[in-house]
Amino acid sequence: MHEYSIVSALLDRVEREAREHRALAVAKVRVSVGRVAGVESELLRTAFALAREGTLAAAAELEIIEIDPRWSCRACGSAVPLEGPRRCPVCAGPARLDGGDEIVLDRLELEVA
Ligand SMILES: [Zn+2]
Repeated sequence: MHEYSIVSALLDRVEREAREHRALAVAKVRVSVGRVAGVESELLRTAFALAREGTLAAAAELEIIEIDPRWSCRACGSAVPLEGPRRCPVCAGPARLDGGDEIVLDRLELEVA
């Protein structure tokens, strides 16, 4: 399941940041997940709960923010609405996905001495 590799990369990053800030533990991890990233939030939670064991994030809460995809025109850059055909409303050019397929570490709450 690719949620596990995502979580393992996420935890690597979280631990690195926590160490840089000399944190004792990670209290909370917030990630933004694009709705078209192909990631199930529930699977992400399950994977996180398993993978966090033995890390600085062992007791961390995971908050997941789902982000809508964003489309824009490849030709003129106008925003293309989510509903309807994936065509530019201004020049009828083809649409391009320019966000909403990413997984981003938004925020970390750390416990420091
Ligand atoms: Zn256009």
